[in-house]
Amino acid sequence: MPLVTTTEMFKKAYDGGYAVGAFNVNNMEIVQGITEAAGELRSPVILQVSKGARAYANHNYLMKMVEAAVLENPEIPIALHLDHGDSFELCKSCIDGGFTSVMIDMSSKPFEENIAITRQVVEYAHAHGVVVEAELGTLEGVEDEVVVEAGQASYTRPEEVEEFVTRTGCDSLAIAIGTSHGAYKFRPEQCTRNEKGILVPPPLRFDVLEEVSKRLPGFPIVLHGSSSVPQEFVAMVNEYGGNMPDAIGIPEEQLRKAATLSVCKINIDSDIRLAMTAHVRKHLAENPSHFDPRQYLKPARQAVKDMVAHKMVHVLGSNDKI
Ligand SMILES: [Zn+2]
Repeated sequence: MPLVTTTEMFKKAYDGGYAVGAFNVNNMEIVQGITEAAGELRSPVILQVSKGARAYANHNYLMKMVEAAVLENPEIPIALHLDHGDSFELCKSCIDGGFTSVMIDMSSKPFEENIAITRQVVEYAHAHGVVVEAELGTLEGVEDEVVVEAGQASYTRPEEVEEFVTRTGCDSLAIAIGTSHGAYKFRPEQCTRNEKGILVPPPLRFDVLEEVSKRLPGFPIVLHGSSSVPQEFVAMVNEYGGNMPDAIGIPEEQLRKAATLSVCKINIDSDIRLAMTAHVRKHLAENPSHFDPRQYLKPARQAVKDMVAHKMVHVLGSNDKI
């Protein structure tokens, strides 16, 4: 099948009590690792591209790699999504260039301005058969060019969501309930430590999610900043020459719970970066004579595939849902 929009996948995910993973792609090995896992597990999947990814890899290269993944996995529903579009022009460029879904993120702007620009993107997107994700509330953290300082983040206000969705016509809504971008989602002083000395972050605000869902029955909700920052990868990075003290993510059981509720799309980027970097570092440390990129990118690609497969089965619940 050709690239699809997220409309059908979200409807099935909402009704089925699972979520579809949205994984950021930047190069061939990442595209392959994600889609090989989706193909073997018969899971729908969203490949998402940030403004930074587009600047790094070039629109045409990304499109052709994603088209290749579609050819290799003809039975798997695959959507191509713009992550954090920051202007109408960027969204339009992706819509014109073959994306099936775009996010317009005006969450840092005042409510009325967010509505006006989101509405403009929705009108253009819908006229071209493309769906739109919008955002209310802001997440802390760093993602490519999106930087929100600690203390500047704010939870989504449930009392705003009906008006926002009605007036914009958006197809899904990203909300802020305590997830965060990047590999350092929380400062140590926000956390407690478990018996192994590992930081445990404050729990997600499920009360906000439930209130939003009550006001928007059947409407797909999106969680950004939802890497779990597996400590095995952090330990591997640190063991083989890296330095990532106190990297911390969202516990997988909380994401699993969100997936059973109205959350239909869960964004995962940092865990891909960590899986690759940990395995590249390990390979090069153990094989100092190697200089063929295939030698270290092969285990890195396999690590992406294994990590994504784990998410699909144990966190998202999206396996065998095509
Ligand atoms: Zn995000």
